[in-house]
Amino acid sequence: MSDCIFCKIAQKEIGTLIYEDELVAAFDDANPQAPVHVLIVPKKHIEKLLDVTQDEDKFLLGHILVIANTIARERSIAEAGYRVVVNCNREAGQSVWHLHFHLLGGRKMSWPPG
Ligand code: AMP
Repeated sequence: MSDCIFCKIAQKEIGTLIYEDELVAAFDDANPQAPVHVLIVPKKHIEKLLDVTQDEDKFLLGHILVIANTIARERSIAEAGYRVVVNCNREAGQSVWHLHFHLLGGRKMSWPPG
């Protein structure tokens, strides 16, 4: 989508990717909430988690979690612990309307989330 900021980042028009393959891109969050805060996004525009229904997207979702593990190991947060979060829709706090998975780590997390 031409006016989507995460599409522009995923297509390397702006920003810096830390990982990419044919399906996904990952980059550091501009306003990190932990020492490691990476966003993993599908390259194709999907507005939110609720919109994922097609068979092809089931592979995509699993792939994103595998890549989250890879990046967690690369950023040395895998063994201590990390969190993967998707905010879907307004009350959950979604503010960018392109599906993204937050990968957070490098500090002790609390529960429940705010
Ligand atoms: P959410 O509130 O779950 O939609 O998360 C959106 C996230 O995107 C927030 O953590 C923002 O800090 C982050 N963000 C917004 N714009 C950018 C950008 N241009 N580059 C990197 N991260 C961004």
